[in-house]
Amino acid sequence: MMHEQSPKIIINSSKCPPCKTLICAGVCPMGIIELGENQKPVIIDYSSCTKCAVCISLCPSKAITLEEKKINEK
Ligand code: SF4
Ligand code: SF4
Repeated sequence: MMHEQSPKIIINSSKCPPCKTLICAGVCPMGIIELGENQKPVIIDYSSCTKCAVCISLCPSKAITLEEKKINEK
């Protein structure tokens, strides 16, 4: 799938401790953040993400970002 145009929420696992209460999973209004392997959160359905940025603003470790799709730049 190379045609995705909008920015995408990225959880940077290396920056995620994770926090005890898994804040991001708890606050996501779409319920698309779940506990994945290694007891760290994963986004299970990108197409449902509204990019509300609640997860970004509440993550105490700033492990979540909204990133532009990386287009092959030569
Ligand atoms: S931006 Fe909003 S909808 Fe998307 S994963 Fe974060 S909290 Fe959920
Ligand atoms: S809120 Fe941040 S630190 Fe806590 S589980 Fe989610 S990504 Fe990890």
